[in-house]
Amino acid sequence: MNISEIFGSNVFSISVMRERIPKKDFTRVMSVMENGGQLSMGTADVVANAMKDWAIEKGATHYTHWFQPLTGTTAEKHDSFITYPENGKTLLQLSGKQLIMGEPDASSFPTGGLRATSYARGYTAWDITSPVFVKESGCGVILCIPTVFVSYTGEALDKKTPLLRSMEALSVQAIRIVRLFGNTTARKVVPYVGAEQEYFLVDRDKYLKRKDLVYAGRTLFGAPAPKGQELDDHYFGQIRERVGRFMQDLNIELWKLGIPATTQHNEVAPSQHELAPIYATANVAVDQNQLTMETMKRVALKHNLVCLLHEKPYAGINGSGKHNNWSINTDEGENLFDPGEDPIHNLRFLLVLSCVLAAIDDHADLLRESASDVGNEYRLGGQEAPPAIISVFLGDQLDEVVEQFIHNSDQTTTEAGELHTGVSTVPVLHIDATDRNRTSPFAFTGNKFEFRMVGSADSIASPNTTLNAVLAEAFCNAADALEGAEDFQRACRSYIRSSMARHQRIIFNGDGYSEEWVAEAKRRGLPVINSMVDAVPVLLHDDVVSMYEKFRIFNRTELASRSEIRYENYAKRTHIEANAMVHMASKAYIPAVIRYTRQLAKTVQELDAIGVDASVQRGLLEQVTGLLRQASGALHELETQLASITPERGVEQMAHAFHDRIVPCMDALRTPIDQLELLVDQDVWPMFSYGDMLFEV
Ligand code: ADP
Ligand code: MG
Repeated sequence: MNISEIFGSNVFSISVMRERIPKKDFTRVMSVMENGGQLSMGTADVVANAMKDWAIEKGATHYTHWFQPLTGTTAEKHDSFITYPENGKTLLQLSGKQLIMGEPDASSFPTGGLRATSYARGYTAWDITSPVFVKESGCGVILCIPTVFVSYTGEALDKKTPLLRSMEALSVQAIRIVRLFGNTTARKVVPYVGAEQEYFLVDRDKYLKRKDLVYAGRTLFGAPAPKGQELDDHYFGQIRERVGRFMQDLNIELWKLGIPATTQHNEVAPSQHELAPIYATANVAVDQNQLTMETMKRVALKHNLVCLLHEKPYAGINGSGKHNNWSINTDEGENLFDPGEDPIHNLRFLLVLSCVLAAIDDHADLLRESASDVGNEYRLGGQEAPPAIISVFLGDQLDEVVEQFIHNSDQTTTEAGELHTGVSTVPVLHIDATDRNRTSPFAFTGNKFEFRMVGSADSIASPNTTLNAVLAEAFCNAADALEGAEDFQRACRSYIRSSMARHQRIIFNGDGYSEEWVAEAKRRGLPVINSMVDAVPVLLHDDVVSMYEKFRIFNRTELASRSEIRYENYAKRTHIEANAMVHMASKAYIPAVIRYTRQLAKTVQELDAIGVDASVQRGLLEQVTGLLRQASGALHELETQLASITPERGVEQMAHAFHDRIVPCMDALRTPIDQLELLVDQDVWPMFSYGDMLFEV
């Protein structure tokens, strides 16, 4: 296999465009890509035609505007290239207009009331900054044109539009910071993202028999296997043959799409794995992550496997996340998060760092919200996962720099020399900082921050939109304060010092999983938000609305629609899970246990009849019957509670009702059934066990 031949072969890349588009049009496309602006219809026609020819050579029959509605996945509607046949013949066509804009009948996408009234129309518009590609699937080969999705009035109906807006806002504010330090040449600042993707694999035959996996993507019942992850023997362990073949196929498919999948390894939990690509600009990384998830699922099926992207497919062992590695870089290739050799004298880095701390501290609750999704409810705050409290890990070295700066930097000092006091103890930072803290939700890792709260199934668009927005705001505040300062060096030091002192409480280098941290975080006044339902209201807090409006990332209406959708999503998905539990309990588990009690009862009778001691069987029967009664009662209670929730109450109340009343009933049903699984003869047990699914892939 020759990777360089395969790589990007399904992408209409810049080099393909250069080959296939006349120079004048190509130059125009590049300029719009880099600086924004509009393509003329003439150029759009030329580009569309070249795209179509290229796609047809790849075997494509259809094109689609590929977009990312608020469902969190991607959407596509295929249109073929054929035109109205004349004399029985058809021409194949893709016009500039078809390339640039589409109007899908999108009335069934969640909009949170945005298009409820007269604004029924939604438009897709080509996002020229993300590459066009062809996708090979059961439908054949489809030309996919990445687009944004907006309403008739220009409101964002997708996850991509706000992300692009946030990137622009960040760039404008970051350039102001760069200028403060004398750089006059950088034209923009771009966030880069590398998303490490965790996932589980399960045998498809077993998957199909686990209705909870089919309907909810996670197990809703299941006793722990005798062995879990306690030996740490899976992490980085040897990859099983079948899994290895899957990974190889997956890599090839991703490489064809120009996704630089690079790292693969076994994760902590049995049957859990990870894939990491090389980072890309944030919008491309978002697209690529969506494609990666989609490709994982598709390729798994070829191996009779199912890829579980859910954040917590199995209770009691690690769940899956998506570490969102994030850095910001000038178009001249300078990473603003790079501390350099001598961070304490790197004033620009210190200012950037103080802005990051301020941004995260001011909007910890918003960041927590950006990483919440229904599946992540079962991961955040769990035993292995990052806790539901936002804090920043800097590592001892940078932490010391912050301490030094706050305490040693004398206000009257402008001489850099005086800052040397005690600084010799600060070792030079290398890109590969040696200390690691896997328990921190937001960790500095050398020249990037790693936001680890994000769920494995979730789109990374919202977390990155949020990160870009909060940092844009912090940069704006700093630039407002420092532009035009008489003595810049001095003003800057004093700004950094007071900002760091004010926000130091967000830094936490200890064990984020410990009980003490929860108490300590509360003492520091950091928000501790344990559920998505409690996180959503922040979207409409005044400071959040005004920040988003100021930087034109969301308006209030868009935020209101998003909060509606999140409540609705929570309520609906929890409802599906509860329904699935009711089905499984009443149609599979309880009947199986009843059959088993009959067997036991018969045995007891038979033994009694011949005068043999039946105390063991009788004891077991009593124990099983007791748990059966408990399960049946819990089932009844769950059904009663479900029946009592009425949709008229509005999505917020619905979400709370599911969270407060249904989830505890679901737990109460699961407990006795999981206990029964350990008591009842495995030949009568109607489901595959955790052991079957986790250790027999
Ligand atoms: P770690 O082992 O610290 O998690 P890796 O080198 O494995 O770091 O990288 C993890 C992810 O971070 C990869 O997707 C990688 O491409 C990405 N990454 C590396 N450097 C940067 C950067 N400067 N900005 C954004 N992402 C980055
Ligand atoms: Mg990592």
